Amino acid sequence: MDHFNYVDGALCAEDVPLERIAEAVGTPFYVYSTATLERHFQVLDEALSSHMPQRRRLIAFAVKACPNIAVIATLARLGAGADVVSEGEMRRALAAGVPGDKIVFSGVGKTDAEIKFALEHNVGQLNVESEPELAAISRVATSMGVAAPIALRVNPDVDARTHAKISTGGAETKFGIPIDRAAALAQEAAAAPGIELVGLATHIGSQLTELEPFAAAFAKLVEAARALSAQGVRLRRLDLGGGLGVPYQRSNTAPPLPFDYGAVVAKALDGFECDVVIEPGRLVAANAGVLVSKIIYVKEGAARSFLVCDAAMNDLARPAIYESWHDIEPVKAPSSSEPVAPIDVVGPICETGDRFAQQRPLPPIAPGELIAFRSAGAYGASMSSEYNSRLLAPEVLVKGDRFEIIRSRPTYAEMLKRDRVPDWLE
Ligand SMILES: *Cc1c(COP(=O)(O)O)cnc(C)c1O
Repeated sequence: MDHFNYVDGALCAEDVPLERIAEAVGTPFYVYSTATLERHFQVLDEALSSHMPQRRRLIAFAVKACPNIAVIATLARLGAGADVVSEGEMRRALAAGVPGDKIVFSGVGKTDAEIKFALEHNVGQLNVESEPELAAISRVATSMGVAAPIALRVNPDVDARTHAKISTGGAETKFGIPIDRAAALAQEAAAAPGIELVGLATHIGSQLTELEPFAAAFAKLVEAARALSAQGVRLRRLDLGGGLGVPYQRSNTAPPLPFDYGAVVAKALDGFECDVVIEPGRLVAANAGVLVSKIIYVKEGAARSFLVCDAAMNDLARPAIYESWHDIEPVKAPSSSEPVAPIDVVGPICETGDRFAQQRPLPPIAPGELIAFRSAGAYGASMSSEYNSRLLAPEVLVKGDRFEIIRSRPTYAEMLKRDRVPDWLE
């Protein structure tokens, strides 16, 4: 459920017509709904607590899904932690008020500088993805005179049955420690200087639409944890990663409900005493945001018609990278008498891949009118770039009948002044 609905013929974010935001900030822009972010977080929190009332839990929002500080702060106020994959993301989480000890630092390529930064800011958990990384963390922590809290990220070799580019739990991917090497490395970690082994972690992929891969991965993780505890290596935390999918297409069958995901978690952990961490990104943010764009031209091509809009693949990269679907809605509600016709929705960028939809049945939309790309709150703004020297789209946060710009559109002067012309060209 989200809070983007038509009211009196106008698509609104909560109580604010998108048209009004467009007048204030121009197009294209991202807009997020506070009520939707909060609802998604709370539904997940309740799903875990209702199945496992006794267990301590941390929901660490995967910052890469939607890294705006205001978004993180909205969730932090509900008790969320943060899953970060770079120093930049950790800085964002800290700036949003997430305490260091609620931050999980993931990623296969943490540098010494990032490890040091994380430890200086009291990071709750560094997820270790390889033997050399364990050695690096041990070295950096020892030089600082601290013990680094770490979890070993295990690769359970489970097929997440999602898009290949976001599947991370197979043996052939770069992620995690092969499960058959985890026990030996855990023993090593438990004895290593500057290391405090707190648990095991896994994350098998993103946009999972079935529960079985989660169940399989969690079962392997718990089995590894039990074996370790039988060998005297005590683990107090299991981190189950993120990955639960969202409905991108209203007409499709919905992915599993958070409640049922909670049941899978509870069943896997049954009888193993530990705290639980999960790292959802998409589930919290995707349907809490839309990208609003204006139609520049309606172009009749030789074989097809095109809606050319002022958003492009630099603003919302998912269709170009993953061929993913985003529902597209006119901001002015179409009258039911208007017939729909198939049309391609494209951006102005000089690539054929700059296409949001092919032969999408849409009502007539005229130049100057607005459309909304739904489900754009996760991996939308966060994956945007200035490709074609286009300015980054601004971000807006709505709460009830209020809205605020939470990242403004840069000026062309700001974009140009980052470049430097060397002396020899002056
Ligand atoms: C990307 C990522 C997540 C979040 O994945 P979602 O599909 O957005 O829930 C969680 N943990 C790690 C380690 C990740 O890389």
